[in-house]
Amino acid sequence: MRERFWQRFALSELTHEEWEALCDGCGRCCLLKLEDDDTGDIATLDVACQLLDLGTCRCSDYEHRFERVPGCTQLTPERVGDFRWLPPSCAYRRVHEGRGLAAWHPLISGDPRSVQRAGIGVSHFAVSEPDVPDEELDDHIIAVLPISQ
Ligand code: SF4
Ligand code: SF4
Repeated sequence: MRERFWQRFALSELTHEEWEALCDGCGRCCLLKLEDDDTGDIATLDVACQLLDLGTCRCSDYEHRFERVPGCTQLTPERVGDFRWLPPSCAYRRVHEGRGLAAWHPLISGDPRSVQRAGIGVSHFAVSEPDVPDEELDDHIIAVLPISQ
């Protein structure tokens, strides 16, 4: 990977390896979301996708994720700005918005565990989708993102 590539190149100019390394492994984008049909507001739940390994905060079947989870969407450089539900801490969103990487990002700290230590990873609060009945999902809303944001 090129030195400090996240500062020197646009997201669209990154190699595949650099693009993948930019993910901080927080797992926040893998939390379930509910969209209000009337208002378009998006609610984020503390319930993680069935494939998210809550120990590592990584997808347990990354290669086949789109076949196994139809709602899983591919993040691309062109779509970062459109995915308004990406958390403000997301490295792709930060770079897209010109905010650079946080001190706890593994590319800065040199330690993948710094994401959990900073409280950014979802391991310490998320529960797994198979453990939550559908009728209880509303009880797990932790944030609502209005359509206007
Ligand atoms: S929110 Fe962003 S940085 Fe965190 S796991 Fe998802 S894509 Fe990676
Ligand atoms: S399939 Fe994998 S990458 Fe997609 S939302 Fe689920 S855990 Fe995340």
